[in-house]
Amino acid sequence: MNIPNSVTSILRSLEAAGYEAYIVGGCVRDSLMGHQPHDFDITTSALPEETMSVFSDMQVIPTGLKHGTVTVLADGEPVEITTYRVDGDYADGRHPDEVHFTRSLAEDVARRDFTMNGIAYSPMRGLTDHCGGAEDIRRGIIRCIGEPDKRFGEDALRILRALRFSSVLGFDIEEKTADSIRRNRGLLSQVSGERILVELQKLLCGRNAAMVLLAYPEVFAEVIPELAPCIGYEQNSRYHCLTLYEHLVRAAENTPPDEGLRLAMLLHDIGKPLTRSEDDSGESHYYTHAEKSAELAEQALDRFHCSNALKARVCEIIRYHGIVPEDTDKFIRRRLSKHGAGTFRDIMLAHIADDSAKIASAKERIPVWRAIIRRAEEIAADQPCLSVKELAINGKDLLKLIKPSPLMGEVLDHLLNGVIDGRFNNDHDELMRLAEEYIRSK
Ligand code: ATP
Ligand code: MG
Repeated sequence: MNIPNSVTSILRSLEAAGYEAYIVGGCVRDSLMGHQPHDFDITTSALPEETMSVFSDMQVIPTGLKHGTVTVLADGEPVEITTYRVDGDYADGRHPDEVHFTRSLAEDVARRDFTMNGIAYSPMRGLTDHCGGAEDIRRGIIRCIGEPDKRFGEDALRILRALRFSSVLGFDIEEKTADSIRRNRGLLSQVSGERILVELQKLLCGRNAAMVLLAYPEVFAEVIPELAPCIGYEQNSRYHCLTLYEHLVRAAENTPPDEGLRLAMLLHDIGKPLTRSEDDSGESHYYTHAEKSAELAEQALDRFHCSNALKARVCEIIRYHGIVPEDTDKFIRRRLSKHGAGTFRDIMLAHIADDSAKIASAKERIPVWRAIIRRAEEIAADQPCLSVKELAINGKDLLKLIKPSPLMGEVLDHLLNGVIDGRFNNDHDELMRLAEEYIRSK
């Protein structure tokens, strides 16, 4: 196992003081899978105050004393050291009402969620695997430690953690654990939106995301009720061959693994059931569904207390996913000006993802969407004038021609549109002349 020296020396210091100490959880799991862990958690028989006195000559932060956690800065890197503990009852399904410290590693491991996360390792003591986690990792299986119903009842977030690990690691969920996840999905209503969103984002970016989304639709409808009407929904459209939910999942799968793009694609058509109409031939249409879907997505993301930046990005992608792009410089420059280079690229990636999840002939448009992305990059690289503040004249210049008034904004917009479309040069004298002309015409 590839353990940083700073972590090994913490383990040695605790052992030298007469305590047991191991790395545990995700870092051992990842190491056994041959992945480099992103952080190392230490578990020890030392009580928090004992740990603090062992490291009295180092920087120690009492980050979660109530739960037995102190953080030691080793080579500038924070390492969490948690005392072996047994969690009390979970009255609210979220936090243990109280925790008891113990000197038994076996008892500490029993409170952890899945067998693969219950393995401890120390260079001095070797591997300790009380729950058969190593074998489950070898077979690629996620299995609750103990009775699944009881474990999900204690902390319903574990339901999403199981699905997230299945997506990210490509593991199967053992049958009893899987049945319990489906049965207990209603408990997710007790989990805070923030915690759900963190898991959902990681899950969506996992390599197995589509399989998990398709295997547990009812669980996802529990955390995003707007998805419920999409499950099994026949689109009755010549462009589609999948039910609405399957289309959402396949579209999400066909974006790069980016949380904003994947969230946007999972939600991009959720407004369809509310905007359906039928023509004389009996085919269905969903004329304002992009706008409706953006509205519903905003509502869902608000429940998750999502950051404003992520929400704005996701909703903008959804709102504009239905506008048919044109492969012309004029169209591309206008859109770059409206959305900015990053979000315009997102919107084009959304078109590719959307068409990848429709009937085969829809895929013929994808090379055009790729060409637009490339052309947009070329145009943006030239740093063209795409906003009022990049114009070669400003409000101060206009004051030489008119008094302050709303007309000033109108003049600047007129000039900007002309520059974006390539009708005007972004040249001070030319723009002053055009401004004068425009004002005279008003
Ligand atoms: P990663 O850090 O890659 O997301 P992880 O398994 O390390 O995965 P953490 O949230 O860092 O996840 O938790 C560290 C360890 O704490 C887990 O491996 C597990 O043993 C335990 N753990 C974390 N969350 C829970 C929980 N909700 N219920 C029970 N045990 C948990
Ligand atoms: Mg971790």
